[in-house]
Amino acid sequence: MGEGMDGPSKIQDKLKELARNLWWCWHGSVIDLFRELDPALWSEVGHNPVEFLQKLPADVLERRAAELALDSRIDFAFRRLSEYLKGEDSWGAVHATILRVRPVAYFSAEFGLHESLPIYSGGLGVLAGDHLKSASDLGVPLIGIGLLYNQGYFRQSLDADGWQRESYLDADVSKLPIEPALAPDGKPLRVAVETTAETLHARVWRVEVGRTTLLLLDANVPENSESDRTLTARLYGGDGRTRIRQELLLGVGGVRALRALGIRPSVLHLNEGHSAFAVVEKIREAMEETGLPFGEVLRDVARMTVFTTHTPVAAGHDRFPAELVEEHLGRIRTAVGLSHDDFMGLGRVYAQDHNETFCMTVLALKLSRYANGVSALHGVVSRRMWHPLYPGVQEEQVPIGHITNGVHVQTWIAPQMATLFHRHLGPNWPRRQRHAETWSAVHAIDDAELWETLQVLKARLIHFVRARLVAQARGRGEPDAAVERFAGVLDPGALTIGFARRFATYKRAGLVLRDIDRMAEIINDARRPVQFVFAGKAHPEDRYGKELIQHIVKTAWDDHFRKHVVFVEDYDMNVARHLVQGVDVWLNNPRRPQEASGTSGEKAVLNGTLNFSILDGWWAEAYDGSNGFAIGSGAVNASIQTQDERDHASLVEVLTHEVIPAFYDRDADGLPRGWIARQKNAFRSLAWKFNSDRMVMDYVRRSYAPAAGGVTCQ
Ligand SMILES: *Cc1c(COP(=O)(O)O)cnc(C)c1O
Repeated sequence: MGEGMDGPSKIQDKLKELARNLWWCWHGSVIDLFRELDPALWSEVGHNPVEFLQKLPADVLERRAAELALDSRIDFAFRRLSEYLKGEDSWGAVHATILRVRPVAYFSAEFGLHESLPIYSGGLGVLAGDHLKSASDLGVPLIGIGLLYNQGYFRQSLDADGWQRESYLDADVSKLPIEPALAPDGKPLRVAVETTAETLHARVWRVEVGRTTLLLLDANVPENSESDRTLTARLYGGDGRTRIRQELLLGVGGVRALRALGIRPSVLHLNEGHSAFAVVEKIREAMEETGLPFGEVLRDVARMTVFTTHTPVAAGHDRFPAELVEEHLGRIRTAVGLSHDDFMGLGRVYAQDHNETFCMTVLALKLSRYANGVSALHGVVSRRMWHPLYPGVQEEQVPIGHITNGVHVQTWIAPQMATLFHRHLGPNWPRRQRHAETWSAVHAIDDAELWETLQVLKARLIHFVRARLVAQARGRGEPDAAVERFAGVLDPGALTIGFARRFATYKRAGLVLRDIDRMAEIINDARRPVQFVFAGKAHPEDRYGKELIQHIVKTAWDDHFRKHVVFVEDYDMNVARHLVQGVDVWLNNPRRPQEASGTSGEKAVLNGTLNFSILDGWWAEAYDGSNGFAIGSGAVNASIQTQDERDHASLVEVLTHEVIPAFYDRDADGLPRGWIARQKNAFRSLAWKFNSDRMVMDYVRRSYAPAAGGVTCQ
């Protein structure tokens, strides 16, 4: 072949274009292109197409593409991306016109877009990633602002004693799907933030996420001191001082980056309190521009600010001592004309209480006109929790509403399920996903066809888990004979329950194994076996969480459980995808009401995986008696011990009397008709609601549009 229009070099260029916009990561057909070109390499580079193309020699690429006749598919994918980027007939073009000139600036300390860009630790980040993707799909003008952690969170492995080990790899920025953001003068953009002692510097990267752009600040620049160069190396690493410096860069640096790029947002959306210093900087900027006094500018800036709180646990809110606040915000405080004490008051529930530290959530609540929790129940809890901030106001009138979290459907649905829906819900069903009518068509899906699809997904999961466990055991240096024992784990016919999330105490990962003898009976029932797949990371400083992991791992390695209980290392978006797509049941047993929303169960819904969960977070408003299973009645007890005991008893009761019988109740065709009916009820009653398109639309209608409409300051 020559070098003509459709020649091989063109193919490489097109693939490079595809690789540099994360749009590919929610389009399975594009992922297939990379995988098919070289499956081993695709896996070796951790599903990172930028690195993949760097490593695949051009002549090999050409040869493989020709052998597999991929040219026209690559062309097609490339054209689809171009059309997507141009797309004018979006929901946002009609409903978010007010944001067209001046977009929403969406701040978040983490973004979970794909496993190859490891700048997230858990649900908060994945939610932010899904928010960007839906904003892109809907055509809602929005720009994300975060930090580039070049070592990410951490990679988890287990040692021979089942203890979590953390490792940190330096990502090579040249292998990430990022490019320097350029200032109007064409040079790579730099931002600087002055503390009272020195100046922090950051470079700024751009990530293209469909039609949405994400800006990432990165402190690894020569202008910084040695220690500040690693300031943004790790997510949630380091002490309070590291933390406030990261948050200073995110908030203040983020606003300065937007300004330097000539972007004038009409809305500031703080996804959790970490970024609340953004509002202070915005006030400083507006005061400088308008010459108006603090109080007046504060009112205007608050009117354009939306704050989403995610934490119903009091200890989960960032708090900083006065000295750290003064050192880092002293300059800006002086610029806006506040005394140290008045500034501290902005971060205190009781402004005059000198013993109170500075809370980022309080700051965010005081500086925003639109505040929300992330599920109906979390709204109630947040109003109660922050009631003292609103003296003279009834608890129900506390101005914190709720917008329930949702997940990005095309990111989390298995391609096989998407194909099934394509056939039965109509070809452009993703664009109609937020309408209940779209999903009413699921009743027409043939039971056997649905069941067959789910068996394929389960087989895929089991294959994945076995390969992972074998690799893990090799990684620990176990001899071949010992490694072998993992090659036959999990039984494709057994009821398979998934439990994967951060090992935070309130999530009670150990609850299901509380009565180990009873669980052994259930698991090893020869006629109706049950098996568990666990995954999740404990925060490096969380000893208790690590002990829980060790307990589960030791159980999994015990001969009584070995075949039916497994722990998959290094939970990330890739592991999450396999699990939510491949298990029969998704277990979630937080201590109500501490799960603000939870989103992994929403991913499960899309894949026919039934939720089996405490009535907390999203499930408290989702469960209707026929679309999954509930643990407990929603009761809360003053004694944690009592609550745990009751929830455990209910878990075992519902598992043995409802979940297991329903799964194993087969008809003459071998199909569990009652189970399948529940799956269809779940698609119909839940999928249209708990997706991130619906969520972003709610934000536009209830917060963004009113906030943008109220903008008076520049
Ligand atoms: C979805 C997701 C989460 C959030 O799970 P919850 O059950 O809501 O805690 C955490 N981590 C990863 C990797 C995820 O994909």
